[in-house]
Amino acid sequence: MSEAPRQPVDAAIVAELIAVREHAYAPYSQHPVGALVESDSGARYVGANVEVAHYKGLCAEASAIAAMVSAGERRLRHVYVIGPGERPCTPCGDCRQRIREFATAETLIQVVDAGGRLLRHYTMDELLPDAFGPENLAPEHLVTP
Ligand SMILES: [Zn+2]
Repeated sequence: MSEAPRQPVDAAIVAELIAVREHAYAPYSQHPVGALVESDSGARYVGANVEVAHYKGLCAEASAIAAMVSAGERRLRHVYVIGPGERPCTPCGDCRQRIREFATAETLIQVVDAGGRLLRHYTMDELLPDAFGPENLAPEHLVTP
């Protein structure tokens, strides 16, 4: 994890983040979150958190990744997350694993404050060290009795 100086992120990305955060459905937590992922093709996909009454809602990062995968893309170049306040709205554990599924060693995860100023940035390994990933399921890693 790297503490980042409070500097502006690309204005177009911030505008997309703020716009999608405004579409969040967060009546229970009152904590709207937006995410933007950029695939290796350069295409951008956004997502907002979507809560439901039984509390098993969908995170903004999961929404954005689902949109990317639904479009047929599989590799993340950048992940941006925006919360409603000044404190870092970092990806939850489940989302860290979800990001890992589609990340590369070059994937950069950036967390901005409510106004879009960069608060934190991480490589995938910084965000989820020693992560379990698809390669762990490769046949050579299986133990045969
Ligand atoms: Zn999450």
